[in-house]
Amino acid sequence: MAKEKDIQEICAFCGRPASRVNKFYTSMFQGVGICDSCLREVNKMVAKEHRHNEVSPAEHLELKTPKEIFDFLNQYVIGQDRAKKTLAVAVYNHYKRLNYVAGGKSTDDVELEKSNIIMIGETGTGKTLLARTIANLLNVPFCIADATTLTQAGYVGEDVENILTRLLQNANYDVKKAEKGIVFIDEIDKIARKGDNPSITRDVSGEGVQQSLLKILEGTMVNVPPEGGRKHPEQQFIQVNTRNILFIAAGAFDGIERNIASRMNSNAIGFSESLKRESIDTDEFLKYVQPQDLKRFGLIPELIGRFPVLTSLDKLDEQALKRILTEPKNAITKQYQKLFEMDNKKLIFENEALDYFVQTALKYALGARGLRSIMENVMNDLMFSIPDDKQEKEVVITKEYAEKVLDTKLLKLK
Ligand code: ADP
Repeated sequence: MAKEKDIQEICAFCGRPASRVNKFYTSMFQGVGICDSCLREVNKMVAKEHRHNEVSPAEHLELKTPKEIFDFLNQYVIGQDRAKKTLAVAVYNHYKRLNYVAGGKSTDDVELEKSNIIMIGETGTGKTLLARTIANLLNVPFCIADATTLTQAGYVGEDVENILTRLLQNANYDVKKAEKGIVFIDEIDKIARKGDNPSITRDVSGEGVQQSLLKILEGTMVNVPPEGGRKHPEQQFIQVNTRNILFIAAGAFDGIERNIASRMNSNAIGFSESLKRESIDTDEFLKYVQPQDLKRFGLIPELIGRFPVLTSLDKLDEQALKRILTEPKNAITKQYQKLFEMDNKKLIFENEALDYFVQTALKYALGARGLRSIMENVMNDLMFSIPDDKQEKEVVITKEYAEKVLDTKLLKLK
């Protein structure tokens, strides 16, 4: 019988003797162990397996209640309570439906329908922000598509399938994850057909696009070009099922308040006074928007039918704009303060300066989106000089300073 020291130790995986490896780990069986390089490989394999079996967050959706969704939105979006509530309920129901389907209950007698959403409101009132914030909360892939760039198949422009390419890319090509994502279609009003009457000749940029959108909204398998576009004809399509993708469309629908007002006027008395006024208060009517108003605006009934949830956003007034500057979790002023803090400087905005930013945004009709460019203009010189200024520990932005800077730069604001 061989003596213990004569037994040659070998790696059970690669068969190399212990004397020819960097490090050798013995096992409980004499002469058998594993070498360092095989151990590394095994570790890698185990980690890969683990990742594969791991349920991705999108697959295992933790249901947030409407109230929780609403509260989360409140941290980032100012005002718009009506839209927030409607969205919170729609999103809650959507993901409840997803879990219901995932639980194998889809064949039960109750079929829960998808709650795609249309949001109506002036540009810069928070429509995209709302959709993006919801996607962040749920940790699902999100993409934004601009309806104006889309064309119906066969025409110059983007095919609707490209929307899903972007979603796939944002999901790192994890099809399962993408299939539970959120697609935001902006400027949906710009593909309205001109006039309420279906035309005999097809309208390529309007009705034709609406028709082709139906296909992806329906909840079918769509062949998606992974690279997008038509430039790579050789690419293999990836099949994506759109059944559980939540579509949120948005648009300004300029002038729709007149449709709403006239419908309400013909349905009920009491609104005629408002109608006689030269200009109609948009907010007053937008909140009463109904699917038939969208039809009159030029969306085809099939498309409207696929967006069962309809809500509107209010214009942002002076007070709301000021809150946007300071209150959201990632408010612009907080972002600048953080940047200055990293240079060990304290940044203070005087109240009058904030009012001045808001008034400038209103004066140039720039809305919330303009607040950033206004502040960027004001802050730029300071951001350039402050990091080298070793003396200054505190920087105060006064109205006078803001005024002086903007006076010289106003042309840039447009
Ligand atoms: P929309 O999609 O309605 O055109 P966005 O959501 O893109 O407008 O808004 C543009 C920017 O303005 C946002 O990124 C955000 O900084 C700011 N903003 C707009 N509305 C709000 C709001 N209600 N609360 C907080 N910030 C807002």
